[in-house]
Amino acid sequence: MPDTAILWFRRDLRLTDNPALLRAAEAGRVLPLYIHAPEEEMPWAPGAASRWWLHHSLTALREALRARGSDLVIRSGAGIEVLRELLRNTGATQVFWNRLYEPVCIARDSAIKHELRDDGIVCESFDAALLHEPWTVKNKAGAPFRVFTPFWKHCRQLGDAPLPQPAPRRLPPLPKGIVSSSLDALGLLPRIGWDAGLAAAWQPGEAGALHRLREFVHRALADYAIDRDRPDLEGSSRLSPHLHFGEIGPRQLVAALHAAATEHGVDPFLRQLGWREFAHHLLYHFPHTADRPLDARFESFPWTCNEEALAAWQHGRTGIPIVDAGMRELWQTGWMHNRVRMLAASLLTKNLRIDWHAGAKWFWDTLVDADLANNTLGWQWTAGCGADAAPYFRVFNPVLQGARFDPRGDYVRRWLPELARLPTEHLHAPWQAPARVLSESGVRLGIDYPLPIVDLADSRETALAAWQTIR
Ligand code: FAD
Repeated sequence: MPDTAILWFRRDLRLTDNPALLRAAEAGRVLPLYIHAPEEEMPWAPGAASRWWLHHSLTALREALRARGSDLVIRSGAGIEVLRELLRNTGATQVFWNRLYEPVCIARDSAIKHELRDDGIVCESFDAALLHEPWTVKNKAGAPFRVFTPFWKHCRQLGDAPLPQPAPRRLPPLPKGIVSSSLDALGLLPRIGWDAGLAAAWQPGEAGALHRLREFVHRALADYAIDRDRPDLEGSSRLSPHLHFGEIGPRQLVAALHAAATEHGVDPFLRQLGWREFAHHLLYHFPHTADRPLDARFESFPWTCNEEALAAWQHGRTGIPIVDAGMRELWQTGWMHNRVRMLAASLLTKNLRIDWHAGAKWFWDTLVDADLANNTLGWQWTAGCGADAAPYFRVFNPVLQGARFDPRGDYVRRWLPELARLPTEHLHAPWQAPARVLSESGVRLGIDYPLPIVDLADSRETALAAWQTIR
């Protein structure tokens, strides 16, 4: 009888550069498995946008597996129970997966590895999601890094990542008699069809990721260093949801960058991948930071509780155009430009002084790229309570930032059509526009578009005073 291996797909939903898949493919039969496991969802159950993405990504993976003579078997239930049942029913003797780095997943995977090995099962995990796994990067004192620049410098000195490995052309057949649950039964898609904006913006799955990478390298890489900060341009890769779900891996990105016929943009882009590595490094070494600030002084920061302001922020009704544009982009497409994420997070945590957890939670529910490591880093960095934090006293001015990074106002006009006719010089601060200009542009502030819910200058001072209380 041929030996059988179980390949457990998690957030590595691709066939290229997938070391666990290559290892499993050495067996006579392979069972590619996706487990919808409740233990992975505690306490950060994926939001609706992530679930939408997952459904489509699994569909794409299943098709790719079928095209290579295999299939995807889907099951729901606790990881260990599903694996045990399938090991029993197939006589499989091997289980392979690629590693995850969230604290809950690490604990679960270690326990499963021990249990299966005690049962005599060959159980191995592989590195597919990062260029450098968190425990391989240490400072001179042997401790984890807490500041990005030395972290990244050290990573660069570790040398190039190995080349990505191609996808297998054919895969061994499934073991006989194994039936998959239906993907629809996982209930990942919304019951009410709000997802048209997501479907128009994205193609989840490995083919969509590779297409986006090619487009980015061809169209935007050369100007990335300058354009990446411009929300009005397609200057960044928009690969974040594909990276989160492992439809493409960082080694593939590095190889594509080196193959590109341009020197420009490569280092700045690698540096952003470095932030992703740093985020995973921090979450691994400081696992409490998903819920609590790395800078412990912020445990006693005097946040305010203002449900009305939070709701206005969530729905893009703060009266601050660049922030509202971002929040509406997020609501419609499940994504927001990095610069605007920083501005939206700064307004919430500094001008409105609302706890960063509330913003992180909203992003978690609405982003297609919601990622515990990156989201935690992004929120704590902006709130000033994380590693390498922008000091709390640096408060972004969304009017100046809007004028600088959306200089023609195209981004604001796209997402706030009610302001589209305002002249550009007034677009980022409509409350300062003369009444005549507003009237000629058809804008009635407080009716068509809100007046600002917060005074930017006063709230900046109040935030700085609050910071003094915990210094
Ligand atoms: P590119 O500029 O093309 O960068 C390439 C890749 O590098 C990205 O896809 C991403 O994987 C990584 N990257 C880039 N910038 C960062 C960064 N600052 N931190 C970590 N990784 C980075 N990113 C997420 O993937 N998921 C999140 O949940 C998330 N939440 C955030 C919350 C806040 C408040 C902030 C300020 C940032 C957050 N980010 C998050 C980081 C960043 O905004 C996105 O990764 C980026 O906008 C994705 O767009 P892109 O793929 O075009 O990026």
